[in-house]
Amino acid sequence: MSEETLFTKIINGDIPADVLFEDEQCICIKDIHPQAPTHVLVIPRKPIPRLSDASEADKALLGHLMLQVGEIARKLGVDDAFRVVINNGESAGQTVFHLHLHILGNKTFDEGSLGMH
Ligand code: AMP
Repeated sequence: MSEETLFTKIINGDIPADVLFEDEQCICIKDIHPQAPTHVLVIPRKPIPRLSDASEADKALLGHLMLQVGEIARKLGVDDAFRVVINNGESAGQTVFHLHLHILGNKTFDEGSLGMH
């Protein structure tokens, strides 16, 4: 059996986290090292390692995550302007190999800049 990811441990309650929202398919937690005044992670319960590992079978789940991003941004009051980041692979900055979407808000990003900082 493959090793549980950090996020699976959080989902299972084995590691504490600041859980803001959850439903049957995903959870939303505060990022432990925020890169913006609002920085949360939307994490599917299913441990897909990277976005590029998702398959046709994950189509509905991926759609659900995107809709949740909008819903969560509204709940956090940042829906007017926020950035969504998915790091895919080590060189792209991915450190936890369990798909997650970063929502960054309450920050003005430089026009044309794609980094999280
Ligand atoms: P990434 O670099 O895209 O894989 O993002 C992983 C994110 O998880 C980083 O922004 C980390 O700050 C965050 N992170 C790591 N450990 C925890 C934790 N225990 N609770 C909440 N966020 C975490």
